[in-house]
Amino acid sequence: MILPSMRFAFLLLFVLTQLATAQTKVYFSPKGGCTEAIVTELGRAKSSVFVASFTFTSTEIAKALIDAKKRGVRVSAILDSSNETEKYSAATFLQNAGIPPLMDHKHPIFHNKFMVIDGATLITGSFNFTKAAETSNAENLLVIPDAKLCGQYLVNWQEHSKHCERYERKEAKANSRTKK
Ligand SMILES: [Zn+2]
Repeated sequence: MILPSMRFAFLLLFVLTQLATAQTKVYFSPKGGCTEAIVTELGRAKSSVFVASFTFTSTEIAKALIDAKKRGVRVSAILDSSNETEKYSAATFLQNAGIPPLMDHKHPIFHNKFMVIDGATLITGSFNFTKAAETSNAENLLVIPDAKLCGQYLVNWQEHSKHCERYERKEAKANSRTKK
């Protein structure tokens, strides 16, 4: 039997533990755990993941997104249009897994690299979702638990999504083009 005061103590401990873990973390490439950090955060996703990515070739990160999708998490991605022609882009991989990415053709480069997880955790930095970014490039990656900041990124994501086209068959492009 747990006394009320003990329950309160447990609750307090739980809250303090949550606060202690909810801190911004930073990782640096090469081989500084960026990919692992992203995969870990994606593994915790419960409801939604919004991705904005320039180059995307990391199989590990693509797999983590697909695993999240299989758990019932809503996964949405905007990619730079170069991913349509990149031989090793994760675009097809995602598409085949039921996550049809949106392609942003509006800018010379869609240079964003961020993810918003459950509207609560923001992942961003110079780190592209590629193997080279993990193993050889000099990059940084921040994991920021900040719902307000996530909200700002989500607004930006939505804005871009309005002029994107689906990465799929040509006939599907007709509708999205009219949105410009
Ligand atoms: Zn855009």
